[in-house]
Amino acid sequence: MDPTQQRIKIDLKDSEQIVCKECGNKTFKQVVFLHKLSALLSPYGQDSIIPVAVFQCTKCGALPEETLPQLDE
Ligand SMILES: [Zn+2]
Repeated sequence: MDPTQQRIKIDLKDSEQIVCKECGNKTFKQVVFLHKLSALLSPYGQDSIIPVAVFQCTKCGALPEETLPQLDE
């Protein structure tokens, strides 16, 4: 069987809908954090801006923890 023919079927009933903990709203918009990487650390040898996509509640503006990037220090 050709593996590219396999389809992963996802049933939304099996998934957990993310709800805003602050206000209970269920819709989110995508926003980005911008991280600046100095030229010394950048593989490109110049200052770089790195966008990190997160989701924001459309109602109260809260950022649900589940969607925040895991930034290991
Ligand atoms: Zn909210």
